[in-house]
Amino acid sequence: MLLTALHFSHQLLNEVVTSGDHVIDATMGNGNDTLFLAELVGSTGHVYAFDIQEQALTKTRQKLGNLIDRTSLYLAGHETIDENISKHQSIQAAIFNLGYLPNSDKQIITLPETTKQAMQAILKRLTVGGRMIVVIYYGHAGGETEKNEVLHFCQSLPQEQFTVLTYQFINQKNNPPILLCVEKKHD
Ligand code: SAM
Repeated sequence: MLLTALHFSHQLLNEVVTSGDHVIDATMGNGNDTLFLAELVGSTGHVYAFDIQEQALTKTRQKLGNLIDRTSLYLAGHETIDENISKHQSIQAAIFNLGYLPNSDKQIITLPETTKQAMQAILKRLTVGGRMIVVIYYGHAGGETEKNEVLHFCQSLPQEQFTVLTYQFINQKNNPPILLCVEKKHD
């Protein structure tokens, strides 16, 4: 059976992330991706995870248990990546889940400008062969604008340097998520 966007995002990460790698979860939420990445990078790797809601950090800390030692959890927007992560730090992979936190305040959403700022900061640090995955949820107010801007940003990346994939079930109702995977080919 074809993989859901969530499962496909994990497969795409699993293919390139190995022990000792440094990776970013740009939208921590309930910490599902932070935990998945913490398991992949092992005890010698590191996960940098960002969210603007205290609730996200609380949930993620609970989920991580002892694996918290291999993570840095920031109560800060992903637009602060340049302030929080050295520009010399190579990143093997990153993931965004855009939109709002399920079962939480639907007004607190990711926004096009800050999302693009974060994507730029990640792509500068991405290793050759590394991947940035963006899962776009856009059924909410403001979601359509963000979807269009993120698609435009990724479509405009130079093909000599990046390969960009989209994955979506196009006959599903209720705004099925769009997965984008940007893989770096050259520095
Ligand atoms: N990956 C998460 C999980 O496993 O539960 C779900 C993420 S949820 C769709 C989107 C999250 O982005 C919300 O928790 C929201 O608080 C967060 N968010 C909104 N603006 C943000 C920003 N500027 N930087 C980082 N996170 C942000």
